[in-house]
Amino acid sequence: METTQMTIGGRKAAVIDTLPVENPADAEVFATAPAATAEQVEAAVAAARAAHRRWAALGIDARRAHLRKCGAALSTATDEVAALLTREQGKPLAKARAEVELSATWFSDTAGQDLAVEDLGDADADIRLHHKPFGVVAAITPWNYPIILAVCKLAPALLAGNTVVLKPSPETPLSSLLMTEVLCEVLPPGVLNVVAGAGPVGRVLVEHAGVDKVSFTGSAQTGLAIAAAAARRLQRPTLELGGNDAAVVLSDAPIAQIAERLFWAAFENSGQYCTAVKRIYAHRTVYSDLIEALRSHAEQVVVGDGMDPATQLGPLVSARQRDRVAALVEDAVAGGGRIVTGGSRLDRPGHFYAPTIVAGAAADSRLVQEEQFGPALPILPYDDVEVAVAQANSTSFGLGGSVWGTPERATEVAAELDCGTAWINTHGELRHGVPFGGYRYSGAGVEYGALGLLEYTRPRVTHVRRS
Ligand code: NAD
Repeated sequence: METTQMTIGGRKAAVIDTLPVENPADAEVFATAPAATAEQVEAAVAAARAAHRRWAALGIDARRAHLRKCGAALSTATDEVAALLTREQGKPLAKARAEVELSATWFSDTAGQDLAVEDLGDADADIRLHHKPFGVVAAITPWNYPIILAVCKLAPALLAGNTVVLKPSPETPLSSLLMTEVLCEVLPPGVLNVVAGAGPVGRVLVEHAGVDKVSFTGSAQTGLAIAAAAARRLQRPTLELGGNDAAVVLSDAPIAQIAERLFWAAFENSGQYCTAVKRIYAHRTVYSDLIEALRSHAEQVVVGDGMDPATQLGPLVSARQRDRVAALVEDAVAGGGRIVTGGSRLDRPGHFYAPTIVAGAAADSRLVQEEQFGPALPILPYDDVEVAVAQANSTSFGLGGSVWGTPERATEVAAELDCGTAWINTHGELRHGVPFGGYRYSGAGVEYGALGLLEYTRPRVTHVRRS
């Protein structure tokens, strides 16, 4: 059975402990991944520290050139990385390829960004604001989009002059290990390092005195633990956490035109997407039509092994994730919700759950209030849009939200959504140049765009008296 190795200080690290890696499409263990020991975490942080001064001193133009090389190297490895990604995560191979291609482009787009020195001087003083790197950044990632979510951290952290230790999810370590190996071929040793393993490896990393900044994407629960560890050292981590995005469908929304977009906004990656639509509030006049339209899409979509080119939706990443979704659906039904379609596991090996639509679940049911992170979508009717908006804002999350209807009216309603991104007639679209972050338990800080780049820097002022 193959084991992909960790890269520490530009070298392949010895495999001491291992973790099994399962293919969620057949529930078979097909590989093992290294599980870093505490000494290996230590070595990775030490390697990143040792490389930092020289990397920061290279200057932004040289680092830009390295990022472009990273993009080109990753692009060349698209097929291999994507195949591993599909095998360990389950998503359709075409989607895995798209994720790797986007990640390669992300490097070159980031290389186009700048960290200009700002002139704040006056007649008496030459004052300049520089944006300095922190030093060593720990990048910790989840399993749903392991490649792009890692690159969204690596690229800006490296451009700003930091060195990085990446810790991918134990569910999907292999594609990140391979990607790091590929990137390390074009980066100086120690600038990028990777340690694999489960939560305890992440904890050792974030609590390490040699780590200056943590950038984390994952659950709110882990985000809270990381924030607490960072607070003990007065560090400010960047946290991209869970969501429970609501879509509010207005009475004037053209259901036939929007249904397919809305369906994919909820079911992309089998619902394992931080900004997936996780609940819909539909005006009572369009409620039945919307349910019918979404049911039709859910029943036509091809669910299967991501390696099959016909597959549109893969399995859930793990038995635990599938069972959680099943439990939330059962709870919603027990509380009065009606299953419109789906509502059960698929009778085949692997962690498959049928695309599911639940009508009329109670507003306080777990399926509505919690993040299901799977292919089960509750749709609730409303009569008064103010009530729908209040319900949309009623969970502990605040990542994204959307309003669907004529643009003017939808824009007015969207202004009332209490979340980091409010979309109108679309949902979940993310762009390199546009900052993205959540309110409340959905996160702290932002990624992407100029603001996202600044998260990997700290301000440094030089003040020269003119006479
Ligand atoms: P998770 O929090 O269980 O794990 C994420 C990562 O943190 C893994 O690498 C894990 O090993 C590590 N980890 C666990 N405990 C740790 C600790 N104490 N210290 C340091 N690291 C630790 O999340 P998950 O189940 O892998 O991912 C799903 C979650 O991620 C969902 O809630 C989803 O909404 C969220 N997510 C958010 C975004 C966003 O941009 N806001 C994007 C994707 C996923």
